[in-house]
Amino acid sequence: MNCRHCGTSLEHTFLDLGYAPPSNAYLTEADLSKPEKYYPLKVKVCSYCWLVQTEDYARADELFSSDYAYFSSTSSSWLMHAKYYAQNIIQRLNLNQSSYVIEVASNDGYLLKNFVAAGIPCLGIEPTNSTADAAENINIPVLRKFFGKLLGEQLAINGQQADLIVGNNVYAHVPDINDFTCGLKAALKPTGTITLEFPHLMRLLEFNQFDTIYHEHFSYLSLTSVERIFKAAGLRIWDVEQLPTHGGSLRIYGCHDEDIHPNTENVRKILAEEKQFGLQNINTYQNFQARASKIKNDLLQFLIDQVHLGKKVVAYGAAAKGNTLLNYAGIRPDLIPVVYDSALAKQGKYMPGSHIPILSSALLKNTLPDYLLILPWNIAGEIKNENSELVKAGVRFIAAIPELAAI
Ligand SMILES: [Zn+2]
Repeated sequence: MNCRHCGTSLEHTFLDLGYAPPSNAYLTEADLSKPEKYYPLKVKVCSYCWLVQTEDYARADELFSSDYAYFSSTSSSWLMHAKYYAQNIIQRLNLNQSSYVIEVASNDGYLLKNFVAAGIPCLGIEPTNSTADAAENINIPVLRKFFGKLLGEQLAINGQQADLIVGNNVYAHVPDINDFTCGLKAALKPTGTITLEFPHLMRLLEFNQFDTIYHEHFSYLSLTSVERIFKAAGLRIWDVEQLPTHGGSLRIYGCHDEDIHPNTENVRKILAEEKQFGLQNINTYQNFQARASKIKNDLLQFLIDQVHLGKKVVAYGAAAKGNTLLNYAGIRPDLIPVVYDSALAKQGKYMPGSHIPILSSALLKNTLPDYLLILPWNIAGEIKNENSELVKAGVRFIAAIPELAAI
């Protein structure tokens, strides 16, 4: 396989997590009697441009089927994050009624509704029908397509170039990152700004976040690699911020290469930090497998010990990252009998691979387990606050990442 950005032959495996079904392929009761598709989950690193990427294995349209269950508005902290972003960017770029905002992967309208409320014309691009329906129900125009070079050029021809293009947690999910970036370039006005948010590879390495690796997540990005990809498409990164979301993300601000925006000091600073951390050194990537394996072994040891002690461990949050962890560790309902979740769309279904049933989080207070394993550790604080009565009742909250520990 060759690098999806620069075409260099990929010689180095960063992490091998075995075989797993797509992490969002939640199963119905009827699905349990059918065969389940597993794909290799292996991540490579390019020793030329340092793009970390999953091995090729399946088509994007197979992964993002129309019943894809994730609705961004489910998380209250994410809604607040989107609201603050909208308020700030409207001010920073002086956006008004004559501006145009495009969001790629606009999901259920969790973000664009803030622009609609401010009277700023906008367009969501979203291939998933269920979330696009939800956005249209709150008066957000949606184009139901995958974004790329062709669609970017079509928008330009239609006079729909944007003053602001937003992409939150989509850039790492696109299979052809060069084509997607050319689309951004084509759909951007000469003085426009692109902001993209994506989990920061440096934090993944630093905090053992190997469970954020799944098939739908094609690239693991650093400022170093994204700056290079932008440059090849005629774009330039003029500012960058570090965010606490998803265990540590970057928000980059891009413009046309020839735009007059001066680069902020942040760009130089984070590039230097990444170099210092070793993101351009193959050794940095090569001991990661052992760290993932240690977390798996520690978790299994703990679960088996609790079985022997007669204690009950259940999980909370049927998140994609939970599926990576459970399937890599080979955990099945004998060790964790149930996962509780507050999202209606997942309740009554089963986790892919592990086949652990998902029940409403409202039922949790009736059972009072000894331990609650929080799978989406990035919102562990939010989950603990929402369930303070369980803490009072003596339920212990734990997470497996960055290491097995109490929360
Ligand atoms: Zn490369």
